[in-house]
Amino acid sequence: MAIIMDGKSLALSSEEELKMRVNSLLEKKNFVPILATILVGSDPASATYVKMKGNACERIGMKSIKVELDSDTTTEELLSKINELNSNPEVHGILLQHPVPDQIDERLCFDAIDIKKDVDGVTCLGFGNMSMGEKAFGSCTPQGIMRLLHEYKIEIAGKHAVVVGRSPILGKPMAMMLLNENATVSICHSKTTNLEEHLIKADIIVGAVGIPKFIKSNWIKDGAVVIDAGYHPEKCGDIDLEGIIDRCSAYTPVPGGVGPMTINTLILQTVEACEASL
Ligand code: NAP
Repeated sequence: MAIIMDGKSLALSSEEELKMRVNSLLEKKNFVPILATILVGSDPASATYVKMKGNACERIGMKSIKVELDSDTTTEELLSKINELNSNPEVHGILLQHPVPDQIDERLCFDAIDIKKDVDGVTCLGFGNMSMGEKAFGSCTPQGIMRLLHEYKIEIAGKHAVVVGRSPILGKPMAMMLLNENATVSICHSKTTNLEEHLIKADIIVGAVGIPKFIKSNWIKDGAVVIDAGYHPEKCGDIDLEGIIDRCSAYTPVPGGVGPMTINTLILQTVEACEASL
C-alpha cells in the first residue's frame, strides 16, 4: 500500500503548535506576528489565495494586514508600498501575491522585500542563500514539500529526483532543496526532449508544470515517490494520479497534499521571522 502524504493533516497539527508559539509570544513579549499581504489587481484566483492566507493567520492567532492595489499600479508605486512595509517594525513578513499585472517589474519588486521579511522565499538573495545551504526562508511550496518528505521519512539521499518545471517559485528551488539533501536531481522543462525517458528512471518525481494530468502514470516506475504540486479547478493536479496510486510507494493527494503545506509554511515562516526579530 502506498503511503498517502497527507498535507492537510500535517498542516492542521502544525497549526496547533503554531497557536502555542503565537500565544507564548503574546504572553511573554506582548507581541503578535503580523503578515502583510499585497494583492495587485482583481484576479479572482489570486484574491482567493490571499484570503486563504489571511484566514490561516487568524486561525493561529496571528494578524494579517491586507494591502490591495489597483490593477494599473506602477512598479514605482508598488516599490514604495514594499519599502513602507519593510520599515514598519510591526510587520514581520511580506507576501506579494504572484502574478502581478504585466506593467510591473515583478522581479524588481520581489527583490525589494527585506530579506528578514521574505517569508514567502521569493527574493534572489533568499534563493541564493538557500541554494548555498545557508539560513533562509525557502519558497513556500517546495519548502512545504520538503516538510512532507521529512514527516513521512522518505529517503532522499542518493535517490534520483526528477523535477518537471523550473519556475522561480517552485521548480528551481525544489531542485536545489533536493540537491542539498543529496538527491541526484534532473530538472525538466518545456524544451526537454524525451521527457518520459527521464521520468521512468526517477525514484522521486515532482510535477510542477501547470497542465492538468500532464504527467502520465505509465511514465512513472513502480515504487516511485510521487509529488504533485499542481492544482486545477477540476480538482486534479499535474500528474495522472489514478493510474499510479497502486504502484507507487508514496504520493501526495490532490487536493489535500501540497496545497495546505504551502500556506502552512508561509505562516510558520512568519512566526519564525517574528521570533527572530525579538
Ligand atoms: P509556471 O511558472 O507556469 O511554470 C511551469 C513550468 O512547467 C515551466 O518551467 C515550464 O517550462 C514547464 N513546462 C510547461 N510545459 C511543459 C512541458 N510540455 N513539458 C515539460 N515542462 C513544461 O508554473 P508554477 O508557478 O511553477 O506552477 C506549477 C504548478 O504548480 C501549477 O499547476 C500551479 O497551479 C501549481 N502551484 C501550486 C501551488 C500550491 O500551493 N499548491 C503553488 C504554486 C504553484 P519552461 O520554463 O521551459 O517554460
